[in-house]
Amino acid sequence: MELWVTEYQTPVLGFTCKASETLRVEQTAFQHLCVIRTEQFGRMLLLDGMVQTTEKDEYIYHEMISMVALNSHPLPRNVLIIGGGDGGALREVVRHPLVEKCTLVEIDARVIQASRDFFPELSSAFEHPKARLVIDDGIEYIKKQKKGFDVVMVDSTEPVGPAKKLFSPEFYRDVYDALNDEGILVVQSESPFFNEDVIRAAYGGINSIFPITKLYLASIPTYPSGLWSFTVGSKFHDPEEIKFPGNLPCKYYTKEIHQAAFKLPAFVKSIVGENR
Ligand code: SAM
Repeated sequence: MELWVTEYQTPVLGFTCKASETLRVEQTAFQHLCVIRTEQFGRMLLLDGMVQTTEKDEYIYHEMISMVALNSHPLPRNVLIIGGGDGGALREVVRHPLVEKCTLVEIDARVIQASRDFFPELSSAFEHPKARLVIDDGIEYIKKQKKGFDVVMVDSTEPVGPAKKLFSPEFYRDVYDALNDEGILVVQSESPFFNEDVIRAAYGGINSIFPITKLYLASIPTYPSGLWSFTVGSKFHDPEEIKFPGNLPCKYYTKEIHQAAFKLPAFVKSIVGENR
């Protein structure tokens, strides 16, 4: 008997993978969690039926959510990741030589456990001396922070359930207050093909608070439509300008990609109102 797993990316579109093994299925206090082994992408983590990460293409998302913000800040010493319980973004952040400390605030300890159990390459930084893990709701955590962070990354699930408020202007205001004067925020802001409303909410919310707001793109095969967006809010530095003089080895990110990722197709420009 063959096992196929489908993520319904929209009500009328499915992304189906042949799976060779079911490794974990559980209902956590926050979401339905599933780890399977797919034949095309290796191990895959799904939350509430939505693909979060796979062994084969995880590096694209994790490098792109981390390196653009880190390399456009001259001294990203203190970093906060909200969400990101698989550990992939944390792995990228702690290997950056200018980062001294990275706090990861994940609401669901079971996601961290699943990563420890099934994704050794993603969870490799949980015990890193620069890393600190906090199990908490990022929305509550950020309210208690006043300045101190150089970079904040929102590596969240889709804007439903516990992640919904992570896309609100109130949350972006709290992040602004938690950032130092030259601080940078980056959020994953979904697919320009399928989630225009999410991009408008993220971009519009950030743009109403931060003096500099920019969107950039990356190609991620297992995410809906394969084209993914990230939105940056910056207090001072232009996120398109690279400040880091070094060269960290990456599999997707390069300095050319950093700059090219901000060059938007016309239809994406029009979503964020840059078509002037
Ligand atoms: N790269 C992924 C994507 O775009 O599909 C996201 C990966 S990561 C697994 C997302 C994490 O955000 C989940 O583990 C989820 O539990 C966490 N999360 C959702 N809402 C949160 C909140 N309010 N505070 C902290 N973590 C949250």
